[in-house]
Amino acid sequence: MMASNTITVYLLLGTNVGDRLSLLEQAVAYIGKEAGKILNTSAVYETAAWGNENQPDYLNQVLCVKTSLPPQQLLEKINAIEASLGRQRKTKWEPRPMDIDILLYGDQVIQTARLQVPHPLLPDRRFALVPLREIAPDLRHPVLHLTITDLLKNTSDPLTVKLHKTATK
Ligand code: AMP
Repeated sequence: MMASNTITVYLLLGTNVGDRLSLLEQAVAYIGKEAGKILNTSAVYETAAWGNENQPDYLNQVLCVKTSLPPQQLLEKINAIEASLGRQRKTKWEPRPMDIDILLYGDQVIQTARLQVPHPLLPDRRFALVPLREIAPDLRHPVLHLTITDLLKNTSDPLTVKLHKTATK
C-alpha cells in the first residue's frame, strides 16, 4: 500500500534509439512498478534532437506520478530504470535509449549538485512543455509562478514538437 505522505511529480521520458515506442512502454511499466502510481500520461510527441541536431529524432512523453519516494531516491530509481533500458553515459547529448528527467516534484524547489528541481531547462524546452501542458495546463511553476500554458507561450525554443501517437488511457 502507498504511504500516506505521497507527492505528485511530473517526469519527462525521452528516447532516440532502438524501438522508441516499446522503450517508452517499458519505462512507463517500470515507473509504475517501482516509483509510484501513474495518474496520467501524455500522448507521445516527436522532436528534433536538442543541443546536437545530427542525431535521430526523439520521442517524448510526460507522466504524472504519485510517489512516496523522497527526491534523491526517486532520482536513483529513475537512473536505475535508465540503466536497465540500456543507457550508457559517455558524452552529453549522445543518442540514448532512455532519458528520464524530474520536471517537477510537487511545488518543491531543490538545488543540490545532483538534482535541480524544477528542471532548470523546462522553460527552454518545447518538447517538455508541450506534453506537460497537455496533462497539466494550469499547473504553476513554483519559481517562475507562471502556468505551463504561459511558459509555452513565452518559450524561445524554435524546435517543432509533433504529435506522434495519441495517449491510450
Ligand atoms: P543528463 O545526462 O542530461 O540526463 O543528466 C543526468 C544527470 O542530471 C543525473 O545524473 C542527475 O544527477 C542530474 N540531474 C539534475 N537535475 C535533474 C532532474 N531534475 N532530473 C533528472 N536528472 C537531474
